[in-house]
Amino acid sequence: MKILVINCGSSSLKYQVFDMDNESVLAKGLVERIGIEGSRLKHTKTGMEAVVTETSIPDHKVAVDLVLKSLLDPKVGVMTSLDELAAVGHRVVHAGEEFACSVKITPAVMDALKRCCPLAPLHNPANIIGIEAITAALPKVPQVGVFDTAFHQTMPDYAFRYAIPEKYYTEDHVRRYGFHGTSHRFVSARCAELLGKPMSELKIITCHLGNGSSVAAIDQGKCVDTSMGFTPLPGLVMGTRCGDVDPSVVTFIAQKEGVEKTDKILNKESGLLGVSCVSGDLRDVEDGMNKGDAKCTLAFKMLTYSVKKYIGAYAAAMGGVDAIVFTAGIGENSATTRKMVTEGLEFLGVKMDYSKNNFRGEERVISADDSKVKVIVIPTNEELVIARDTKELAF
Ligand code: ADP
Repeated sequence: MKILVINCGSSSLKYQVFDMDNESVLAKGLVERIGIEGSRLKHTKTGMEAVVTETSIPDHKVAVDLVLKSLLDPKVGVMTSLDELAAVGHRVVHAGEEFACSVKITPAVMDALKRCCPLAPLHNPANIIGIEAITAALPKVPQVGVFDTAFHQTMPDYAFRYAIPEKYYTEDHVRRYGFHGTSHRFVSARCAELLGKPMSELKIITCHLGNGSSVAAIDQGKCVDTSMGFTPLPGLVMGTRCGDVDPSVVTFIAQKEGVEKTDKILNKESGLLGVSCVSGDLRDVEDGMNKGDAKCTLAFKMLTYSVKKYIGAYAAAMGGVDAIVFTAGIGENSATTRKMVTEGLEFLGVKMDYSKNNFRGEERVISADDSKVKVIVIPTNEELVIARDTKELAF
């Protein structure tokens, strides 16, 4: 069974085709600069060189048509007819309080996603355009939506509400939603598998550390708290997002710079970039730190300290922790980050064996064999979750 997974951004479209009989990736690709000069499609059939097509791609409908054409290409395609495509799964950023799990796309679901657009004005409209483009090209193929927010819908009200006047929740839906839910769900389930224990017996803290980063507290398989909030801005120090700041800092900067510019400053010019004054990419910041750059060292320390604080907070929130998971670009690849985050957590029952920590991008336990709390690196795979949910829900 072949399933196409789509992640549509405002000017991009990422895709993967899975053979769900063995969960292998047949092809993947990226359409960039949709509606902008210099648009292109990069398509890679597994085991072959990537093929880049530079052509005018004015909108998502044209992008989808181009992707489908690549899937049928005699050389780099992966099917002879689009009838082989059993279903399409979409990553959708925000489902508000509408959905606590993935759903098959129906007109009613589309209406609900449109209602969520004010909550994610940059992302949801693009996700909706992607679904509509597939509907236009493949009207008979079932589609499934998988939401970044869904996994976090189990948070209790005292964790998801903000202590601001109630009407902002009841009228404007202002509350903590959390993001990266698909990743937190995948790595926590995999963690339970690796430990050979049912989710119902585990308290897990998952650290998704990428350009955007979040931590989640998962008690008996249910998310009970997470560090991102109404938007992906709060929580950890990220590549260019500020993470937690005193809310008055926002009003202070807004008075100086105006609301729009403040939004840009806090989302695009802060985090590692803002502090290091060098880059929002951790590799550059780590290089700087290794060369003795004081600002890079400070940025690195701030990031790892923010992760450590959330681990402590979530262990307290759950009354303990059995496993800590590192995932995503930084979590999977940066041994220094993992070391700096876990140093000093012995009081929680974490005993590290740093000789096991020097590797990148693999699934491995990095705590000592006799550590009460297991520390594990698990590469995330959001696309596979989307493909699995699509297989389960489309028919
Ligand atoms: P996104 O949130 O865009 O999906 P990723 O999960 O791909 O981000 O993570 C990107 C981050 O991972 C960047 O900060 C990058 O520097 C970091 N990263 C990737 N490889 C390494 C590495 N070898 N060492 C340190 N950091 C790395």
